[in-house]
Order: sequence, then C-alpha cells, then structure tokens
Amino acid sequence: MQMFQQYIDGVFEDGTARFDSLDPATGKTWASMPEAREGDVDRAVKAAQHALWAGEWPAMTATARGKLLYRLADLVQANAQRLAELETRDTGKIIRETSAQIAYVADYYRYYAGLADKIEGATLAIDKADMDVWTRREPVGVVAAIVPWNSQLFLAAVKIGPALAAGCTLVVKASEDGPAPLLEFARLVHDAGFPAGVFNIVTGFGPTCGSALTRHPGVDHIAFTGGPSTAAQVVRNSAENLATTSLELGGKSPFVVFADADLESAANAQVAGIFAATGQSCVAGSRLIVEASVKDRFLQLLKTKAEAIRIGAPLDMSSEVGPLCTRRQRDHIESVVAASLAAGARLVTGGRNGQGEGFYYLPTILDCDDVAAPSAETELFGPVLSVLSFKTEDEAVGLANGTPYGLASGVFTSNLARAHRMIRRIRAGIVWVNTYRAVSPIAPFGGYGQSGQGREGGLAAALDYTRTKTIWLRTSDDPIPDPFIMR
Ligand code: NDP
Repeated sequence: MQMFQQYIDGVFEDGTARFDSLDPATGKTWASMPEAREGDVDRAVKAAQHALWAGEWPAMTATARGKLLYRLADLVQANAQRLAELETRDTGKIIRETSAQIAYVADYYRYYAGLADKIEGATLAIDKADMDVWTRREPVGVVAAIVPWNSQLFLAAVKIGPALAAGCTLVVKASEDGPAPLLEFARLVHDAGFPAGVFNIVTGFGPTCGSALTRHPGVDHIAFTGGPSTAAQVVRNSAENLATTSLELGGKSPFVVFADADLESAANAQVAGIFAATGQSCVAGSRLIVEASVKDRFLQLLKTKAEAIRIGAPLDMSSEVGPLCTRRQRDHIESVVAASLAAGARLVTGGRNGQGEGFYYLPTILDCDDVAAPSAETELFGPVLSVLSFKTEDEAVGLANGTPYGLASGVFTSNLARAHRMIRRIRAGIVWVNTYRAVSPIAPFGGYGQSGQGREGGLAAALDYTRTKTIWLRTSDDPIPDPFIMR
C-alpha cells in the first residue's frame, strides 16, 4: 500500500486522519491518503498568509518568480511519466491520456513563467497638473484552489501557474477521489525551491476540508473547478470571508453536425469528444445535434467506431477507454441511462457495465429524438452520448442553446458563412469549428451560464490573480493649500 502526505509550510506530513483510496480498475484499496480537517486547513492558510507578507517571496522580483516557475515546468516534464502513472492508478484515466496531458502541463507552467515579469500597471494621464498617478498590479492574496479528480494536474496548473506568476500564495485542495498525482506534484514544487508556505496542499472531504478552506477568513480568492451545486455552496461560503471567486463548472456541450460536413472527420471528433477520458471531461461533447438528412448515416459511423473501442486496464498503453473514477459515478450513470430508456430513448449501443470488478461502463449512444430524456439535458460525466436532430439552422441553434450550461460547443460544416453565423449565435465560452477539444495555455477557457464565470488560460487569467493599487504622488513644492477644497 502506498502512503501519501499533505504539504503545509514546506513540510510533508501525514494529516489529522487518513483514508483509503481505491483503484478504479479493480475496486480494491491501493493507497492511503492524508485527510485534512479544519485544523490542518487553518495551518495551511496561515502559512500561506505568512509567506505572502513576510520572508523571501514578497521580496522576490517577478523575474525570479518566473525562474522558479520555469524550474517547476522542467521538473513536471522530467517526472511526467511517474505523475501520469499515479494519476492513472488513482483515477482510472488511461495512461495514453495522462502521459500526453501531463507532458503538456509543463508548457502551462512555462507560459506563466514567461508572463511573471510582464504583468504591468499603468501611468495615468491624470486631470490634475500637480500630481503623478500610476497603478501597480499586486497579488490578490491567498488563493484557495479547489479541483476535482479528472485532469487534476492540468486543472490545478491553470490556477497555480497564474497565481504564482502574480505573486500570490496558495492552498490547493485535491479531490478526495484520486488525489495521488497532486500530492506527489507538491514534491516537485518543494524541489523547485519555492519558499515554505507559498504552496500548500491538502486533501479531504468537501463538507469538512473544502468547506473549512472556502470560508476561512485568511482566503482572498477562491479558484474553483467542479459541479454547479458545489459551486453554489462555495459561493455561499465566500459570503463569510468576502473572497472573490472564479468558477469553472460542468457542461452539456452541443456537438452540431450539418449535412455538408466531412462526416468521417466529424465522427472521429465526436467519438473522441465524448468517449475520451471515459466521458469524465467538462467539455465532453455529450449532446449530438445532427442534421436529420444524415442522422442515420452518422449514427452508423458512430456505432461502428464506438463498438471498436478497446476497453481495458488503464495502465495498459493499448487501452482506449478505462473505468470511471468511482463506483458512485458509475451507479449514477447507470440510473440516468435507465431513466432515459424509460422515457423513450432508443439504445444505439452500450448501456451497461463493463465486465469485472472495476468501475467500467460501456461507451453508450442514446437516440433521444422527440423524447424528454434526462441524459440529453443534464451533465452525466460519463461515456454517454445523447442524440438529437434538426431540419433547419434555427432549430440547430435552439437545441445547441437549449440547456442552462454554456461551456464548449462544436460545429461541423463546410459552409464558411454558416460557421460564422453559428459562432455568433451559440451561447458558450468556446466554439470549436471542424475540430473539438483543442486547448492551449495561450487560449482563454471558461463558460457561460451554469458552466461558470471567469476565464482560465491566457494573459487575462494572470491579471485575475492581481488587484490594482493606485498611487498618487504630488509633484508641487508648494505647501498644501486650504484643506476644504478638493482638487
Ligand atoms: P464536485 O463539485 O463534487 O467537487 C469538486 C471539488 O470540490 C472537489 O475537490 C470536492 O472535494 C470539492 N468540494 C466538495 N464539496 C465542497 C464544499 N462544500 N466546499 C468546498 N469544496 C467542496 O465535482 P466532481 O468532483 O464531481 O467533479 C466533476 C465536476 O467538475 C463536473 O461537473 C465537471 O464538469 C466539473 N469540471 C469542470 C471543469 C471546467 O474547467 N469547467 C473541468 C473539470 C471538471 P471532494 O471530491 O473531496 O468531495
């Protein structure tokens, strides 16, 4: 059994209590994790507060902060395979995906390393002759970063990178489901040489650890990724400490296919868009909206491809789809698929658990045309594609915008003018045209509506971890005149 530790104020420690982590491929315990409770969270936030105001970190130049981030990026790259194996073991995400994704995570740290000394204030053309006025961008303060289990090194990087570049300090809370890779990542932060207290990491349960962190009076900003109902709880908690929040939440992302699209290419993108990461992806293209005239042909292509997917052990490089992260998640998917079939949805393929003790669920396609199937309306976070069809472009737009979410979307067409019309009309933070699931540290990422607020990635994300200080400097040698006239 492997033992993992939390990291507070530069020290690795066991935590107040411990809990077991299950291997999703076997359903058996494989590791022991530290469980942070209120006292651990309090120590972590106080360490971050201290490091923000005293010692090496606030005295460091932005260029020096950037150099530490470059060192961290190199360590992530050098250790990518080991981190990938831990993530695969603890969450069930297949090794093909974790190894490619974590190697790319290093580039996110490099991007923010380069930005550290490019965060600038402004000199203002102020309307007073005897004043110089300028602004400084200062760190927003202590950041609580909360992430779910899926793609956690990536989701944490888009918070940790800009926060450290801006000079903030952090307490990261890893999900209780599969925290191994993030706890191990703390060792790289330590080895990179960040001063004690700048980066702290705990894991534990939402109602205890997560809640204690998000309402802690020492937290200035909460960067949260997770589901909308937890986000509502986090925002309620932030009413106690008046921390600012950024929320990256779930989605029911529409994948719109017009009859004039390259159907083979669209089908490959759709299969990857919904079945990669076993559907446990916030941007999963889980709501296919296909033009009625090509629906049967497109469904046949998808069915053939879905049934050819190699489902297998997550650590096996040839596996294309692995298990779900938790039994709870698989049970949830089973019940929503059953409810959708009961509502009249037609099963195209899948619709049942995989074999063995692990938390496997087969790639599933449900034809939900003309039925009120819950699978087509709510996020499942699993390998289930719901299919709807349209006859006109207006209908396609109506269906694409027909959920309270608005994270991502895909449009497949060979008509350039139509692509531009769809880009304008779809209410989502991301529109992919003739592609799907592309991401980059350079491109902003985030949602509309129930999919959240704020953006991660890109320059603006680094600025979100700053607050503005305005400086007024009087340039006149004359004494200050009558104090009751404002100038
Ligand atoms: P949850 O909302 O259940 O959990 C997210 C995180 O919040 C976990 O670390 C969880 O801890 C923690 N948490 C739970 N309760 C509280 C609380 N009261 N206070 C503070 N923190 C709390 O999400 P899931 O783990 O189920 O993750 C899946 C969701 O995340 C999906 O909706 C998915 O779409 C979304 N997501 C969004 C992304 C985006 O970028 N937009 C990217 C990836 C996922 P614990 O696990 O220990 O309970």
